[in-house]
Amino acid sequence: MTAPRRNYDIAELRRLDVAHHLPAQQDYQLIEDLGGSRIITAALDRCTIQDGDGNQLLDGMAGLWCVNVGYGRDELADVAASQMRELPYYNTFFKTVTPPAVLLATKIAELTENRLPHVFFNTSGSEANDTILRMVRHYWAVKGQPERKVMISRHNAYHGSTVAGVSLGGMKAMHAQGDLPIPDIHHVRQPYWFGEGREHDPEEFGLLCARAIEEEIERIGPERVAAFIGEPIQGAGGVIIPPASYWPEVERICRKHGILLICDEVICGFGRTGNWWGHQTVGVKPDMIAMAKGLSSGYLPISAVAVSEEIVSVLKTGGDFVHGFTYSGHPVAAAVALKNIEIIEREGLVERTRTDTGPYLAQALQRLKGHPLVGEVRSCGLLGAVEIVSNKQTGARFGGKEGTAGPMVRDACIANGLMVRGIRDTIVMCPPLVITHEQIDRMIDIIQCSLDEAEPLLRAGEEPAVHEEADLPLS
Ligand SMILES: *Cc1c(COP(=O)(O)O)cnc(C)c1O
Repeated sequence: MTAPRRNYDIAELRRLDVAHHLPAQQDYQLIEDLGGSRIITAALDRCTIQDGDGNQLLDGMAGLWCVNVGYGRDELADVAASQMRELPYYNTFFKTVTPPAVLLATKIAELTENRLPHVFFNTSGSEANDTILRMVRHYWAVKGQPERKVMISRHNAYHGSTVAGVSLGGMKAMHAQGDLPIPDIHHVRQPYWFGEGREHDPEEFGLLCARAIEEEIERIGPERVAAFIGEPIQGAGGVIIPPASYWPEVERICRKHGILLICDEVICGFGRTGNWWGHQTVGVKPDMIAMAKGLSSGYLPISAVAVSEEIVSVLKTGGDFVHGFTYSGHPVAAAVALKNIEIIEREGLVERTRTDTGPYLAQALQRLKGHPLVGEVRSCGLLGAVEIVSNKQTGARFGGKEGTAGPMVRDACIANGLMVRGIRDTIVMCPPLVITHEQIDRMIDIIQCSLDEAEPLLRAGEEPAVHEEADLPLS
């Protein structure tokens, strides 16, 4: 908050951006055609960012699902600076460790109520999932069942961008680049009721999707299946909140076949869904979890995998687990994560999300339900989604396929002062856990007026207007 505002030469930065910087998950030619990316220069308060043209944006995405405690936390800057002065770096390879790494592992274990008492550190969510893949396969090998290699995941899951992350994930466009997934990773249907299950009762659909896992296990042979991995609520896939029946049935199936249950808590962890962990919200007890994003609220890169006693007791009989990173347990990142967790606890942000802001968001979203472009609104804690459709009754999408309306409404939101994401035709939001009621109202108001602005453009682009009208009286 006290940082001096610098006078950047924005035109020059944009020129250099195009000349030298390759952005994440992007069409490089498109960025060149746009004359460079939008340059975010500063955070003005907990939930507001500013770009190089002086536009102020309410950050409905908490950065990229990560700035849980909001921007401008001097405490986090201070703890990083003092740890850097005391000991900026040391590793965990040489039978050595640093105090922040030990204390953070202890704190994470405590937050799992000691059900997952052992913690391995990495620097990103993708790496956490790489660690999981290696640890799971090694666990089964040490246990004398090396044929248990197959990991089951879901279509449209997101587990990161490394080779293992993309492979575990279920994004078709990512699989198409670089010959992925790697072998022995299978994908089953996702519990996306609005997109794929509207002919079913939601709870029935949840059970159907869970049973698709069991069918896959039986097809492969249970003796070859190592683990099932899933995000309690899919984030990057479009804030897909499974029916309540889904996860308990998934857990039952995993237990029945002796398969490890793994939750990717990279978005759901650290209060996002109104509990410390998404798996608490959906009511399961995993054997391993991945966490990242909210662990440090994005102030520094750090991730972790928390592991059960049973798994570690087996690993202890297997000699060296030859896995680890230069920055595993980085002391500065660990110190910042510890302070971040302290802030979440001190300000009661988990409780506030569960009992106050989460329900407030759910209620505010109801205002959009009657909009002619809105097929469904849904939320859990401070994860929200709005489905854009051309026909409320049929759920048909604009242009006859997904992906036309979402980017248009997203761009309108950004132009109107709100940073949100459009995933296919789903507008998603994931604001900092410190967002106020007034800011939630503003977020919903901006989405509403952006939908209003986009509607005539979207309708004009539609061909069979006659058809659309003919369908309406059926409602
Ligand atoms: C963001 C994300 C990842 C990947 O994290 P990175 O830090 O980008 O590598 C993995 N899993 C989930 C659920 C995520 O949302």
